[in-house]
Amino acid sequence: MSTSDSSVNVAANFLRPILEADLQSGKHSRIVTRFPPEPNGYLHIGHAKSICLNFGLAKELGGVCHLRFDDTNPAKEEQEYIDAIKADVNWLGFQWHGEVRYASDYFEQLYAWAVYLVEQGKAYVCDLSPEQARQYRGSLTEPGKNSPFRERSVSENLDLLTRMRAGEFPDGSRALRAKIDMASPNMNLRDPILYRIRHAHHHQTGDKWCIYPSYDFTHGQSDAIEKITHSICTLEFEDHRPLYEWFLEQLPVPAKPRQYEFARLNLNYTVTSKRKLKQLVDENYVSGWDDPRMSTISGFRRRGYTAASIRNFCDMIGVSRAGGVVDLSMLEFCIREDLDNNASRAMCVLKPIKVVITNYPAEHTLTLQLPRHPKRDMGMRELPFEREIYIDASDYEENPPKGYKRLVPGGEVRLRGSYVIRADEAIRDADGNVIELRCSYDPDTLGKNPEGRKVKGVIHWVPAAQSVECEVRLYDRLFSTPNPDKGDDGEASESFLQNVNPESLVVLKGCRAEPSLLQAQVGDSFQFEREGYFCLDSVDSKPEALVFNRTVTLRDSWGQA
Ligand code: ATP
Ligand code: MG
Repeated sequence: MSTSDSSVNVAANFLRPILEADLQSGKHSRIVTRFPPEPNGYLHIGHAKSICLNFGLAKELGGVCHLRFDDTNPAKEEQEYIDAIKADVNWLGFQWHGEVRYASDYFEQLYAWAVYLVEQGKAYVCDLSPEQARQYRGSLTEPGKNSPFRERSVSENLDLLTRMRAGEFPDGSRALRAKIDMASPNMNLRDPILYRIRHAHHHQTGDKWCIYPSYDFTHGQSDAIEKITHSICTLEFEDHRPLYEWFLEQLPVPAKPRQYEFARLNLNYTVTSKRKLKQLVDENYVSGWDDPRMSTISGFRRRGYTAASIRNFCDMIGVSRAGGVVDLSMLEFCIREDLDNNASRAMCVLKPIKVVITNYPAEHTLTLQLPRHPKRDMGMRELPFEREIYIDASDYEENPPKGYKRLVPGGEVRLRGSYVIRADEAIRDADGNVIELRCSYDPDTLGKNPEGRKVKGVIHWVPAAQSVECEVRLYDRLFSTPNPDKGDDGEASESFLQNVNPESLVVLKGCRAEPSLLQAQVGDSFQFEREGYFCLDSVDSKPEALVFNRTVTLRDSWGQA
């Protein structure tokens, strides 16, 4: 079965058969997955892979998926991120089961379980400073050493933990640790921290807590509380799995979820790290998290990428345990494929020069009916043809290169959906630049070829008086090197910021759009003929001052550069 929205190839997903087998065997009667973002930034294309996987598999197999904010770090988290994440998941086409959940909803239960571990002699309060604790921890090649506080009595530990919670101690002065094995080859099992002291305000729990549970002490138990059947995460958590299971073994949890890991998505020319994306925002390399050059879901949406094409992309890359770097052109392929099928055609002249059709009557307007799509029935649009029109400056050449099929002095070209015109004369300004063309049209050529002459070129145009002035923003890849951490020469750069593409945004003002584009709505996609795919900018476009974003070019031009 496929959830694909179109004809793209759906690659293998090694988790699907595992979940299917668990349903078949009766181990689980219903699949419950979760998507657990930390609200410390906006979601990016890597998260889209995890969303499509968790929500997609649950949907496909008749199960449900939870949205749970993994909000254990009050310092870096904000309500703005929570709102953006919810909007992005919905926009991608998924709905979580029940209310949005927060790990912080479980703080009281987690604390009770911490007390339980202390009572069982499986956790202790440690007074080593963070620096000392690091030294005691050992390394990958050396075992750690037991903390001198490891053998504290249960009653002393309970007393200290209660006072930690009551706010008696300063940040970093103590921590609650599990008592596992300081010699374990797996560093995660060397008496990991369960609670840290942090006198910080939390966006959900306010000032109720001054101790916060660690990621490891929170994640698996939250899965258990929600009776998640398959806890799917990325491979960097593989080494945490023994600890995940240790907690589920030691604690009286209501369910024992299983953790599975898959390879994260890496995309060339792109960063997929919230920390780096935040740096781009904070240091003003982009206009915000939703800048159309950002690899965030909200940036892609503003750029005009569609949810269906992102889902198709995620289907196409598949899910495995083998890492690798996916080519950005694959994502762009999915965007083009979707937009080619679904975007209305329109004309917009990006670098206009005026053309006066000298043999066309001044007061006359012919209203042409042009299809919105060449292959599908999407209705018609009206386009007025007048004596004065605009064409693109690059569609007229006095010294044409070989094979040039557009307008040349004395030559003919077809105006898309309209007549054939001939260039008779060029008007120049004082510096010799062409500022206007005088042309004549052949009245016998509307919708048909002129008798005995072959006109090869077709160019786009708009009427002069009845077109709409607009701004067009041409976006390109944000990084000019495939691995943004490395320069052109493949050597590591000091910072990924050095490889930001200086031409990733080109703003064109004074462009002219056909009048039907006055009806454009945020969320509509257009193919501006011969120019690419475009959409209205959801932030800056106003009815009296339209701004269009280029979503993607018509063809992949990066490979040919
Ligand atoms: P970042 O490194 O950007 O901060 P993260 O993994 O810390 O990402 P979380 O908010 O913790 O971000 O992620 C929520 C979920 O999304 C996790 O299950 C995580 O494994 C998954 N995820 C994050 N990045 C990727 C990626 N590049 N590919 C696939 N899944 C990802
Ligand atoms: Mg994280």
